[in-house]
Amino acid sequence: MPSSSERERLATYHAKRDLRASGEPGGSAGRGAADEPRFVIQRHEARRLHYDFRLEIDGVLVSWAVPRGPSTDPSEKRFATRTEDHPLDYLDFEGRIPRGNYGAGTVVVWDIGTYRNLTERRGRPVSAADALANGHLKVWLSGHKLTGAYALTRARFRDDEDSWLLVKVADEAADRRRDPVRTQPESVLTGKVNKDFED
Ligand code: MN
Repeated sequence: MPSSSERERLATYHAKRDLRASGEPGGSAGRGAADEPRFVIQRHEARRLHYDFRLEIDGVLVSWAVPRGPSTDPSEKRFATRTEDHPLDYLDFEGRIPRGNYGAGTVVVWDIGTYRNLTERRGRPVSAADALANGHLKVWLSGHKLTGAYALTRARFRDDEDSWLLVKVADEAADRRRDPVRTQPESVLTGKVNKDFED
């Protein structure tokens, strides 16, 4: 059973969907906290293509929608809109969300793995929850397509709490020549592409 705080945090998620109609997962069965928190990036061909970037933080998947997807080039700033927290069972969800449902379209697990929170303030580590509240989070991703550090920073140029920027940190995993969003559209779990889930 989800704890009440988890239920509260997922209230928006549940309010937006009818899970019996959408086929999306609703819980966190058998997904107690792993040694390292997990992340997923889902390629979601909905009304508009975007990439849902989700980080496991305190029992839910804190989520952003990134229209252009993540870059491996530190000079590229990718706009990211914070969206509702998702349940942990969403980590490996892929398939088709039928027409008439919120987010109707197709979803593949574009990348998945674990991450480490690298956020510091004045030389001291900052918890992921505090980093979110402060509007700056730095994580080290260990995925299949993406590795290395990424920074998520609340955008100050908009009067909107939900506008963030996702930027690759300049480190040994940075690579201006790679463009995995373009060259590797497939699921890292099944090798499928979005089209494979279409009607
Ligand atoms: Mn989405």
